[in-house]
Amino acid sequence: MAEIFYDDDADLSVIQGKKVAVIGYGSQGHAHALNLRDSGVEVVVGLREGSSSWAKATEQGLKVAEIPEAVKDADVVMILTPDQVQRTVYAEQIAPNLKEGAALFFAHGFNIRYGYIEPDASHDICMVAPKGPGHTVRRQYEEGRGVPAIVAVENDASGEAWDLTLSYAKAMGATRAGAIKTTFTEETETDLFGEQTVLCGGVSQLITYGFETLVEAGYQPEIAYFEVLHELKLIVDLINEGGLTKQRWSISDTAEYGDYVSGERVITPEVKENMKAVLADIQDGTFAKRFIADQDAGAPEFMKLREEHESHPIEQTGRELREAFGWTDDDEDYTGTARR
Ligand code: NAD
Ligand code: MG
Repeated sequence: MAEIFYDDDADLSVIQGKKVAVIGYGSQGHAHALNLRDSGVEVVVGLREGSSSWAKATEQGLKVAEIPEAVKDADVVMILTPDQVQRTVYAEQIAPNLKEGAALFFAHGFNIRYGYIEPDASHDICMVAPKGPGHTVRRQYEEGRGVPAIVAVENDASGEAWDLTLSYAKAMGATRAGAIKTTFTEETETDLFGEQTVLCGGVSQLITYGFETLVEAGYQPEIAYFEVLHELKLIVDLINEGGLTKQRWSISDTAEYGDYVSGERVITPEVKENMKAVLADIQDGTFAKRFIADQDAGAPEFMKLREEHESHPIEQTGRELREAFGWTDDDEDYTGTARR
């Protein structure tokens, strides 16, 4: 059984005695800064000059400074800019200003795992990665609960990196739920694998094929949308609560029987071989290199793919239906072009 830490395993006063710079104020950044602040930690948010988040963070009562300023006094620097810009931000604005013995924190191991950031050995390198979107991390904290996190220490220069990591996790609300011990390598590789093969890539492709199959067979797109996309949430909620068995308990016997006899026809053993190939590309750095090379070139492939996928007919059907049924997306900073 993996090692899991709870509130009683962590001493909040460790992080309360430190100055923390949270770099970036996006999905994770705002949740980290606000949760730490509300847990009695001294926080400064580090942003680019002219950043649109500057006013927002200030309004929410946070101290804001340009990144070099924020880093200079900090004992702990949590890097929450997008993964693809972290190495440049680190090299140009963080490393030259980092205090001796300051600890570096991450919410995803990408840049450490693939060597894009190589801090010198005198710095603790720690991870507190909430297993949920930043907006949920903040909401749960405010409600007195917490989103589980995974925690890791890549370099324990101070000899106290674990105390600091667990204390940070407690201030985030994570140890209310539980923080699982991992390593930077395990977190990075499994996180990329999960999002590519199952959660994002796998599910999106599965939905798309399901929709195309029904529409090409002459069924109405609106009905197809309900059957292969809308209802997915209801099923996933059951899986999340009680595993595949609870989902199968709740659905009809007809659906359960169909699950058993047709699931294996759709997701064949070949799919598992494909997953292994994706995992190999993650493990040997092929995926990371491809992603970073494209980003460095201004992300032409990324932008082309985003546009292609956003213009699929299922997205048009979904926009019209969600409007007709009055469902709203209420994430105030959602910027998808699909938004109305
Ligand atoms: P984000 O895109 O929501 O926010 C990034 C923020 O970084 C921006 O709001 C901006 O303030 C700042 N920023 C952007 N470009 C910058 C630049 N060039 N220089 C300086 N600052 C810049 O990012 P996010 O999704 O919060 O991801 C941050 C980290 O958290 C990543 O390592 C990611 O893998 C990890 N993570 C994210 C989630 C999630 O739910 N989004 C969950 C777990 C871990
Ligand atoms: Mg993930």
